[in-house]
Amino acid sequence: MQSIKIDILNGSPIIPRTIYGIGRNYAEHAAELHHEIPSEPIVFLKHFPSLRPLSGGPLAYPEEVFHHEAEVVVLVGQNLPMGQQASWNDISAIGLGLDLTRREAQAALKAKGLPWTKAKAFDGAAPISPLVRRQAFENLDAIEFTLHVGGELRQKGNTKDMLFSVEKILNHLLTFTSLMEGDLIFTGTPPGVGSIQHGDSFKLKFTDLSEEFEGRL
Ligand code: ZN
Repeated sequence: MQSIKIDILNGSPIIPRTIYGIGRNYAEHAAELHHEIPSEPIVFLKHFPSLRPLSGGPLAYPEEVFHHEAEVVVLVGQNLPMGQQASWNDISAIGLGLDLTRREAQAALKAKGLPWTKAKAFDGAAPISPLVRRQAFENLDAIEFTLHVGGELRQKGNTKDMLFSVEKILNHLLTFTSLMEGDLIFTGTPPGVGSIQHGDSFKLKFTDLSEEFEGRL
């Protein structure tokens, strides 16, 4: 399989491993989908062929209308055995990505009590920006970010509004799995999810950094 490399700004590319997703990690997003607030992180997996640069690359179901979920994505910087305690020091870099979701397929699967995999893990389901070194952020627990689609502001979030912080997510994952250097974690989406389709242009940005990450689905 073709390897997908993600550039770290001013650094060398990394080859990612497992891709974790966290569901309903912002109360207002859980509310817009009429879901209960979870009492512990909801964890699902995306898969390696989900990863896609912000422009170009394979995309399954190109005729479908997806839901965009703009999310802060963190890169695990070292191997962490199950049971270990982790902190922000174990995250080496941070980016922005879209957790593309086939919402209707997901709803149909959930209604039948079936796994969501086909709604969340398909080729191109995780467009991701270049990653920024952790040290670039002044306050890691208050990272503000935006998503524009076709020039229109769709989502604005701040990691201070997460139900489960990055450190809590790491320590929850480590109760049942080891984490490996190169793992990526999509940390959940703020409110404002909506439609995006093949050909749409979009822009992801950290409010406090100058880089803008432009893409086209
Ligand atoms: Zn998501």
